Amino acid sequence: MATPIITDGSLDRVRKTPRVVLPVRADLFAERAARFERVAAGNVMSGYLQLMAIVARAQQSVLSRRSAESVGEAALTASRDYGMPPLSAQSHPRTPEWRADLADIVGDVRTRVADSVSIALAAFDTLDETAREALADRVLTGTSLDEEAALVPFVGAALQTYFTRIAATIDVALVDQCDVPGICPVCASRPVASILRMGGDQANLRYLVCSLCATEWNMSRIQCTSCDTDKGVKYLVAHAEGKSETDAATRAETCDECKSYLKIFYQEKDPTLDPTADDLATLALDLLVDEQGYARSGPNLLFHPGSS
Ligand SMILES: [Zn+2]
Ligand SMILES: [Zn+2]
Repeated sequence: MATPIITDGSLDRVRKTPRVVLPVRADLFAERAARFERVAAGNVMSGYLQLMAIVARAQQSVLSRRSAESVGEAALTASRDYGMPPLSAQSHPRTPEWRADLADIVGDVRTRVADSVSIALAAFDTLDETAREALADRVLTGTSLDEEAALVPFVGAALQTYFTRIAATIDVALVDQCDVPGICPVCASRPVASILRMGGDQANLRYLVCSLCATEWNMSRIQCTSCDTDKGVKYLVAHAEGKSETDAATRAETCDECKSYLKIFYQEKDPTLDPTADDLATLALDLLVDEQGYARSGPNLLFHPGSS
C-alpha cells in the first residue's frame, strides 16, 4: 500500500510530549521567590519561608552574574554512549565558581535580614575552602551534620544556582536517553517532588522535579518514584488543608513496597505553585506521612531539620 501523503498539516498537530525539560526559564528563581512570599502568609513557617524568598531572589541575581562553564568531554561521551547523566552532581568536578556563588548569595542575604540570621551566617567566615567543599559534598550526599543545619540551605542554594546554570546549556537530545526513572537525567540527583503540569506540551503529565538543577522529567502517574512499582501506591493529604482529597493541591504519594513517599503537586489547583517552595510550605504533610511509617525519598536542599 502506498504511503499516504499528508498535505493538510495534520502531522504538525500531533502533540509532542517532552520527556525531559531543562531549566531554561530565565526567571526561575524570581518566580520561586514570589511563590515563597505568597505561601508565607499565614503559614506556621512564615519567617522561614520569607527568608527563603530572600535567598531565592539572591539566587536569581547571582544566576546571570557568571557564564556557565562547559561540561567535560568525557562526561558528554559517557552520556552519549551509555546514557549516563552528563552532570552527575557527586562526581562532577566543581569549579570554584560555586563558592563565588555562595559568597555572593550569603553576602546579599546578610544585607537584607535580621541581625540574628546575619550572625548565624557569620559562621561561613570561619570556614576555609576545604571546609566549604566538604560541606557541599555532605549536602549533595544528604549526610549533613545537625550542627551545620543553619548553613545547609545556603550551601544548597549556591549549588542549585551553579548546577542550574550549567544544566540550562546542555543539549536536551543528549539527556533524553538517560533512563533511570527516579533520578535526574542531567545531574543524577533525587527529585524534590513531582508535579502534574497543566497547559502546553506538558499538560496532564506528571514530571519529577530535580532538587538540584531544576530539570523536569516525565514519569507515568501512579508509579513509585523510588522503586518504580505500580503496586501499593496510595495518596495521603493533610487534613489541615481543609479540603477533600480530590481538591487538595498537594498529596503525598506513598509506596507500600519500599515504604517511601514523595509529594505530588497539582498545578491545575494553583497555577503559580513551585515544587521547592510549596514543599516547604506543606511540612505538616511530611509529619503526617512520617507518622505512618513512610520515609521521604528526595531532599529539599533549602531545608535541613533544625534549619528553620
Ligand atoms: Zn538535576
Ligand atoms: Zn516504592
